[in-house]
Amino acid sequence: MTSPTFEFTALSSASAAALRSKGGEIYIADEPQCYPCRQCLQDANVGEELILLSYNPFGSKSPYRSASPIFLHRHDCGDPTSDDHLPDQLAIRQLSVRSFDADEMMIDAAVIDGADLPTTIDAMFADELSHMLHVHNAQRGCYAVRVDRAR
Ligand SMILES: [Zn+2]
Repeated sequence: MTSPTFEFTALSSASAAALRSKGGEIYIADEPQCYPCRQCLQDANVGEELILLSYNPFGSKSPYRSASPIFLHRHDCGDPTSDDHLPDQLAIRQLSVRSFDADEMMIDAAVIDGADLPTTIDAMFADELSHMLHVHNAQRGCYAVRVDRAR
C-alpha cells in the first residue's frame, strides 16, 4: 500500500546509534512478530539480538513530551526499505495514533487496527493544523514511528 501524501519517519542511524551507546536491556527474539525494531521497521527474526530502551520523540518543551520504550536491533540495521509502504510491524498491531500541531500540541488521537493506519493518517492530515503524527503500540505503549507529510 502506498500513498503520496505521507511518509513514515523511522529512527535515523545516528539517533539509533546514540541510543544504543547509552545501553539498555538486551533481548534475544524467541518468537516472530514480537520484537519490533524502530530503525529498520522490521520485527526481529527468532535469534536476533535487540536492545530495549527509552526514546523521547519530542523536540520541544511540549507538555506531551515523554519517553516511551522501544526495541532496536542491537547493532545498526539500516534504514527501512521504503518510507511510504505500511510496514508489517504496524499493520499487524493495534495502534494509538496521535496528531500534533507545529508546536507539538496534541490535536487529535485514535486507537485503531494497524491495517487502517493509512486511512487514519489521511484523515488526520486532512486537518491542515496537523504537522506530524506519533504512532504507538496501543497495548504496551511502545513508541512505533513518526509520520510526516510527504515532502
Ligand atoms: Zn532493525
